[in-house]
Amino acid sequence: MSPLSFPPKIALAQTPTPLDRLERGDVDPYRLWCKRDDLTGCALSGNKVRKLEFVLSEALSQGADTLITCGGLQSNHCRATALIAAAWGLNCRLVLRGEPEQVYDGNLLLGQLAGAQIACFSEREYRKKLPELLAHQVQQVLASGGKPYVIPTGASDAVGLWGYVAAAKELAEDFQRCQIKQPLVVCAAGSGGTLAGLAAGLSAFLPTAEVLGIAVCDSAEYFRQRVYEDVSAAMERYPGCGLKMPENFTVVDDYIGPGYALVYPEVTQAIAEAAQSSGLMLDPVYTGKAYFGMLEQLRQRAFAPRDVVFVHTGGIFGLFPYKHAF
Ligand SMILES: *Cc1c(COP(=O)(O)O)cnc(C)c1O
Repeated sequence: MSPLSFPPKIALAQTPTPLDRLERGDVDPYRLWCKRDDLTGCALSGNKVRKLEFVLSEALSQGADTLITCGGLQSNHCRATALIAAAWGLNCRLVLRGEPEQVYDGNLLLGQLAGAQIACFSEREYRKKLPELLAHQVQQVLASGGKPYVIPTGASDAVGLWGYVAAAKELAEDFQRCQIKQPLVVCAAGSGGTLAGLAAGLSAFLPTAEVLGIAVCDSAEYFRQRVYEDVSAAMERYPGCGLKMPENFTVVDDYIGPGYALVYPEVTQAIAEAAQSSGLMLDPVYTGKAYFGMLEQLRQRAFAPRDVVFVHTGGIFGLFPYKHAF
């Protein structure tokens, strides 16, 4: 019997995703694995799909006809939301941070092709006024007789959290099959929901597992607080769901470099190296930094020898706008 009772979801992701061995000579005595959440779909790929399974169910149960969300110009989350809206006959409005190039690229191109209404704002305006910018979109939808549903940044909230609680259940089944007993599960932390869901889910389904979040923005302290807030919010919103506050995770913030979405040579090298040695495509914003950070931690022997599982959260379309960095 499952220790948790899950809220309803709509199946969008191709799951279960594979758990592959990654052979690398330079991380002995660790045994390295990759959970291929980059394979949750094709255009609709990556970690946000798992969260949006629960979010879409909630939005539809409220009778929404328009999804509104926000993020950077190259947000994987915004692209995934736009594609899901298109597939489900919903409208989509994206509030994006940054000045677009004349010719759209990467995730922005896909979001536009999927028919999302896109509004872009300068870094400064976005940071100062995001709640108002979203409220304005809500007003416009209501004024035209529509029913909006606002998804927060990265779908990291009490609803989206369940995507990675469910992934943790899937991982626990993978681990049983592959005889992995005390894994260290590593993921990138951006808006924090993947980390929070994995930590809360694994503490229920495999208490011997530990989770390591590699920050790609914000401090370790910020993410510890985010996990606390997101899990608290879910416990409050779903009474009796069985979630407990996790204590099985750590966060490192040593690999952010110059800042969010700013790439540095060690990361581009790690991306090229992973592509050549394993055929894995990592991205400069999330998975490239997380992968580099993980390897550094393992080379420093920061953890006792064990199975280490890198959760590949996707992001391939974010690679193309960085072509000049390679
Ligand atoms: C959003 C994202 C992350 C970070 O996940 P959060 O739940 O926001 O912390 C990691 N990798 C990719 C490719 C992403 O798009």
